[in-house]
Amino acid sequence: MIPPAFEYLRPNTVPEAIAFLQQYGDDAKILSGGQSLIPMMKFRLARPSHLIDINRISGLSYIKEEGGYLKIGGLVREAELEDSPLIRQKYPILFDTSRVIADPQIRNRATLAGNLAHGDPANDHPATMMALGAKIVAAGPQGERVIAVESFFITLFTTALQHEEIVTEIRIPIPPARSGGAYLKLERKVGDFATAAAAAQLTVDQEGTCQQAGIALTNAGAVPIKVAKGEEFLQGKKLDDANITQAAQLAAEAAQPSSDLRGPEEYKRGLVKELTRRALARAYERAR
Ligand SMILES: Cc1cc2nc3c(=O)[nH]c(=O)nc-3n(C[C@H](O)[C@H](O)[C@H](O)COP(=O)(O)OP(=O)(O)OC[C@H]3O[C@@H](n4cnc5c(N)ncnc54)[C@H](O)[C@@H]3O)c2cc1C
Repeated sequence: MIPPAFEYLRPNTVPEAIAFLQQYGDDAKILSGGQSLIPMMKFRLARPSHLIDINRISGLSYIKEEGGYLKIGGLVREAELEDSPLIRQKYPILFDTSRVIADPQIRNRATLAGNLAHGDPANDHPATMMALGAKIVAAGPQGERVIAVESFFITLFTTALQHEEIVTEIRIPIPPARSGGAYLKLERKVGDFATAAAAAQLTVDQEGTCQQAGIALTNAGAVPIKVAKGEEFLQGKKLDDANITQAAQLAAEAAQPSSDLRGPEEYKRGLVKELTRRALARAYERAR
């Protein structure tokens, strides 16, 4: 379908984009990769009066380590994450995540910031960002604020972003030595959203005891789900089969999936358990 008519605006700076958001109010929308917004407009699920295309704003396309964080600029595309040697070598969980999103054409355009700002619990990055303890930098009329990912997702398609704010950066704490992560997703066919998926990030000591665990789930509720009980359970424990299985059980209990065309609730809960078990095992392997 053809989207409804809209005015197209192309700011060159972040302050200019914020000024447009202020000027045109609730009916204006940021256009980033366009891979969620444009389909929604074509289905007439979104009818913005003004599209504010931020793609020409320079200085938002970086992936770098600085000040204790991996910093990813607000216009970094999935394909750039996938191709980055830094991400491949040091952040395998992010590489796992980017490469299972949609298909290569979509990944050439879609941005990490858009994936988070969209607030879709079926999107893959939110759970990974939770497992990594990420922070989201939002620029608005009053300057910048930093939002912890745990408080970013409010409910279905609703985030803590104010209407006049733009995500300019995602910050991930640089993991200590002996850290590893993994993201595992089951999809009905390549390019589909997850039936369910699990993100796991671990730090272990020399003996292989868990020092820190991050576990989160995709498409298992109205928001990405942080498996706090599983994380606490693993703290200070050996990452043997029994403990990993128990943490996976706690993930299944934390999940709130609903029955839909991707399967009944019970099946999805079982899937969450198995995917979490495998993600934790792979994360442990990588951490060692
Ligand atoms: C066929 C298909 C399959 C897909 N499969 C998957 C999948 O398996 N997993 C997955 O995770 N995703 C999937 N997606 C979604 C895709 O990854 C989206 O591109 C992504 O969710 C949104 O990123 P975007 O840059 O394209 O954002 P846009 O579509 O441009 O914007 C999405 C929303 O976020 C807002 N927004 C965008 N950028 C910013 C910003 N910097 N600051 C503030 N607000 C902003 C927009 O105003 C809009 O409301 C799929 C999409 C399609 C079309």
